[in-house]
Amino acid sequence: MQKYMSLIDYAEITNSAPITRRSHGWRAKCLQRLIRLDMPVPRTVALSFGAVRSIAAGQVPSLGGLMSAFPKGQLLSVRPSSENTAWGGPGAILNIGMNDAKHAEISETCGEPVATALYLRFVQAYAAYVARLDPDMFDVTEPCLPALQAALRDYESEMEEPFPQHPIAQLTEVLRSMARAWEGTSARLLRQAKGAPLEAGLGLVVQAMAGGIGRGESGAGIIQFIDPVTGATQITGRYKSEAQGRGDLGPDADVMYLTHDKRGASLEDRCPQAFADLVRFGAIARVKLREEMQIEFTIDDGVLWVLDAVKVPRSGRAAVRTVVQLVADKIIPKDEALLRVAPNALSELLHRQVLPKRGNTVFLKGIAASPGAAHGKLVFDSTAAQASASRDEPCILVRRETSPEDIRGMHAASGVLTERGGMTSHAAVIGRGLGLPCIVGASGMRIDRRAKTLTAGGQVFREGDVITVDGTRGEVYAGAVDLLEPALDDSFRTLLGWADEVRDIGIRANADTPADARIARDFKAQGIGLCRTEHMFFEDDRLTVMREMIFADTAPDRRAALDRLLPMQRADFTGLFEIMQGLPVCIRLFDPPLHEFLPHTREGLRQLADALDKPLSEITRRAEALSEFNPMLGMRGVRLGITLPEIYDMQARAIFEATVAASSTGAPVVPEIMIPLVSAMREVEIVKARVDAVAAAVRAEQGAEFDYRLGVMVETPRAALRAGEIANHAAFLSFGTNDLTQMTYGLSRDDAGRFMSEYVQQRVFPEDPFHMLDVDGVGELLLLGAARGRATRPGLTVSMCGEHGGNPESIAFCRDAGFDYVSCSPFRVPVARLAAAQLAI
Ligand code: PEP
Ligand code: MG
Repeated sequence: MQKYMSLIDYAEITNSAPITRRSHGWRAKCLQRLIRLDMPVPRTVALSFGAVRSIAAGQVPSLGGLMSAFPKGQLLSVRPSSENTAWGGPGAILNIGMNDAKHAEISETCGEPVATALYLRFVQAYAAYVARLDPDMFDVTEPCLPALQAALRDYESEMEEPFPQHPIAQLTEVLRSMARAWEGTSARLLRQAKGAPLEAGLGLVVQAMAGGIGRGESGAGIIQFIDPVTGATQITGRYKSEAQGRGDLGPDADVMYLTHDKRGASLEDRCPQAFADLVRFGAIARVKLREEMQIEFTIDDGVLWVLDAVKVPRSGRAAVRTVVQLVADKIIPKDEALLRVAPNALSELLHRQVLPKRGNTVFLKGIAASPGAAHGKLVFDSTAAQASASRDEPCILVRRETSPEDIRGMHAASGVLTERGGMTSHAAVIGRGLGLPCIVGASGMRIDRRAKTLTAGGQVFREGDVITVDGTRGEVYAGAVDLLEPALDDSFRTLLGWADEVRDIGIRANADTPADARIARDFKAQGIGLCRTEHMFFEDDRLTVMREMIFADTAPDRRAALDRLLPMQRADFTGLFEIMQGLPVCIRLFDPPLHEFLPHTREGLRQLADALDKPLSEITRRAEALSEFNPMLGMRGVRLGITLPEIYDMQARAIFEATVAASSTGAPVVPEIMIPLVSAMREVEIVKARVDAVAAAVRAEQGAEFDYRLGVMVETPRAALRAGEIANHAAFLSFGTNDLTQMTYGLSRDDAGRFMSEYVQQRVFPEDPFHMLDVDGVGELLLLGAARGRATRPGLTVSMCGEHGGNPESIAFCRDAGFDYVSCSPFRVPVARLAAAQLAI
């Protein structure tokens, strides 16, 4: 049995009605503000969250009172009004109240075509959203009387009852269907994904329909006063005659210019007064609502009505420009400007972006591993990428996965696409470091390296075919789609300057090369938090010497090869120190397994045998001997430092000699030396003793004084657990959360991409832990390690340098834990600066 609600909780929106965002939703509140600003808003009644909830629960509202707010026969619309615009809601339903009698009445006053268009629109919406009939059934090419009659007949035969004629019955059903739609599972999941709480409510606003279709100049439009892509002050929007609602203003709509235009009719020419009023309302809304608003309006026989206003949907670039301008105009304070820009939106400004356009077709998707977009010709190996770069032809390097051997190819390419890998795989880490658009784990493609083809989405692409990779969204397009250039403009610098005034956690950059370091400085990083030195050994001239070193039989032979690498390393470090001008530079000693430096093909091994003047069989045997079942847990990091100490000796010497050289010409340098993959205190003791000895030798040889700091990279769970004793020998601890995540989960960072999406979909993990720091598990190790380390050494510097370092959530975690700084790839530095500022406000 139906229960009847005698008193429904509704309020006509007036200047003084008790309407709040929490009780009636943002739309109701915003409409009240517009009314208070004297804008011509049609009469509106707002239903509270409580009213909508009881309607969804089956109560039938008695709507007599509500209806009495409107003249008899008034057509109505209903729109959703949740607490937050981002949480969505059911679509608006217009023209409630259309029935046979109203059709006859409007036919008299405005003509039959207008009446038919209105009635048909209502029948279509009602059938689809209220009666839940197949919308295709009610699709018509021309709104004409026979089409309306057919729609009414189809409704009757499907529902076995005539189309409801009574306005109250129509409105009751519309309200009920919208209330129930909000409670549906998919709507719930969608809004929860956007941060809505479980109990999020829906309000509804019932509004008198104002024109749009009718006599004289009638139509619907939206207008805004900035360009939504660039944020520049400019009138943009759409207006269409004989139209109703946003649905009529889609990309295919035959719209009119808004401002006077030589090319054709414009709203400004047609309805100068309405246009002038809109411009005036925009200016008022900007000052009073303290935001750039998009105004939805209708014109009814030349008369303007304001239906609604929402924050202009905008790009990251426009968001920055707008808030900086609002501060300049003294409309909002700086802190509010900082809080209004989502940190991740900044990465849009730092890289090229795909300009959204109809006709762009995505044929493949993968993990968005490094933001930005690029197009270029397909190449399948690094040699082809380099050849392409030498011809000045942009190219996209496509690999199953990348390895250190591909570094040169990646440098030469404009974008990278791999079939395998996850957020911390080689391609992803290097891509982010280089600011190179990169998509990994695109498992929907097949690569035939021999035939040099890529097959995906039923299409075959050959070497030389042009594709576009969008590393921001993880999407791949055929051909060269239009791109938007990065915009590091004054607004961007101004906003980040304000961020630096308030933030209270340091931001450094992970930078391996002079080019990285320059970007880091440009983005105002406070130093280098991680310089991965192994990347320096993959350059052409060094790789051969490196291989000689690996194949050396004795320590003296190894030292001889390292002596040849020494000047190159010294030059690398001198360059970094000079660029960083006295800011701290943290250099991590050699980390990867040596096997990574050997060729992986027979041809490569043969060439190496030639170069080293050794038999191929010996080279092959030695290469095999170096290969490990599980190299990431094998002979790498400090384990190499202990067993082949000459490598670290050479690096320490290069660092100290560079320190002396750079300090003699520029600001004094205090280098930081970091030991990777430590798991035991004794490892640190041994390495420290040797590094100290090298420092003493360099001081004596050069007759120069310098300081340095030696620290430990905490990347194994044991190092975190034993941080108390490790801190006896370390001036700083830097948490390498890539390896620490890998080892805490026992989850290969290079292979996890294969099943990660399945894991996240099934909610085994809430997120990819290589992407979003696992605060419960890995985070506990961070807290524990930091606390134990600091208990031993109160002045211990603590930081995070894994790929998580640039994520706003990880920065919040590190700040709460009292870390001194986070270090992230250079292109994340601006994002991190803003995120850190927001935490401090
Ligand atoms: C880490 O493990 O977190 C780290 C920063 O080092 P890499 O990514 O070079 O292993
Ligand atoms: Mg590591």
